Amino acid sequence: MERPLACWQGEERFAGNVLPSLTIILKTGGCRHNRCRMCSYRFERYSGEIPLTGLLLSQLEWVVHHHPLADVAIVKLYTSGSFFDPDEVPDDVVKEAARLLKGKLVIAETRPEFVDPVRIEEFISHIDTGDHPTPLYIAMGLETTSDPIREKSIDKGFSFSDFLIAVDNARKGGAGVKAYLLHKPLFLTESEALLDMDQSIREIAGVADIISMNPCTVQKHTELEYYWKRGAYRPPYLWSVLAALLSAPVQVSCDPVGGGRARGPHNCGTCDYEIVRAIREYNLTADRGVLQEIFEKGCECREEWESVLLLEKPYCMPLTR
Ligand code: SF4
Ligand SMILES: [Zn+2]
Repeated sequence: MERPLACWQGEERFAGNVLPSLTIILKTGGCRHNRCRMCSYRFERYSGEIPLTGLLLSQLEWVVHHHPLADVAIVKLYTSGSFFDPDEVPDDVVKEAARLLKGKLVIAETRPEFVDPVRIEEFISHIDTGDHPTPLYIAMGLETTSDPIREKSIDKGFSFSDFLIAVDNARKGGAGVKAYLLHKPLFLTESEALLDMDQSIREIAGVADIISMNPCTVQKHTELEYYWKRGAYRPPYLWSVLAALLSAPVQVSCDPVGGGRARGPHNCGTCDYEIVRAIREYNLTADRGVLQEIFEKGCECREEWESVLLLEKPYCMPLTR
């Protein structure tokens, strides 16, 4: 049996309940876009002439053998690209996944151009048992609502209006929408990044059903890593992460991957662990009091963060050559 890239059980807050979840990251033919500046997932792919369908079906078999699906309510389905790109995940694999996940609440990630209402509707018809009002959520990495930031700092290759069309298509197919936002992409100062996150959350609060904020981490062999190694990039302060979550008008989930490490969102090293723990607790309880308390408790480095917000200047690129 082929092993997926990763697969683990956990817990997820959904509609006021904490439910057992399973996250599956399938190894596929890889992301077709393949050029975002901060992304190393795109390197995780089969290459050459390979029997993709068989390899993917074998990974699904591995999942079922190692994680009894009966124990799980929510399944988060990722690839190193787009689950609904038919070149990346062949149709037979999508069908088999739907068959196995019948009765689950599924969150599947894809780029907006692959949100096809007909395929979505078909997937839902296989998983739907009437247990969930919306059995499928389409997750998309919008990253920011700002087109210039998405283009220049990320090179994501789609616009906010492309995302809105995909939201429409997802809903036409009967799915809900989860949006991922990236906190502090390349080339932004700490305060620009915080402003961008505040604005992005506000602009999609009424559009996406679920919003998840990813504080940026420095992944290996990326352009972001190139700049980070030269001192031209610092991941966001955890203070900024707290500030964004606290000022959001809606509940925003956040998994501070690599929190407290040099490559992940971090503060001074002393207060990081407690803050990351508070954010993880907040994800499950939705209790902002936990965040407020840790923010007010402060640390010596909070003053440093406040100065950075005030003093850091953006790099300027010439407008002409
Ligand atoms: S972030 Fe997503 S769209 Fe961009 S290269 Fe990585 S997998 Fe592809
Ligand atoms: Zn500190």
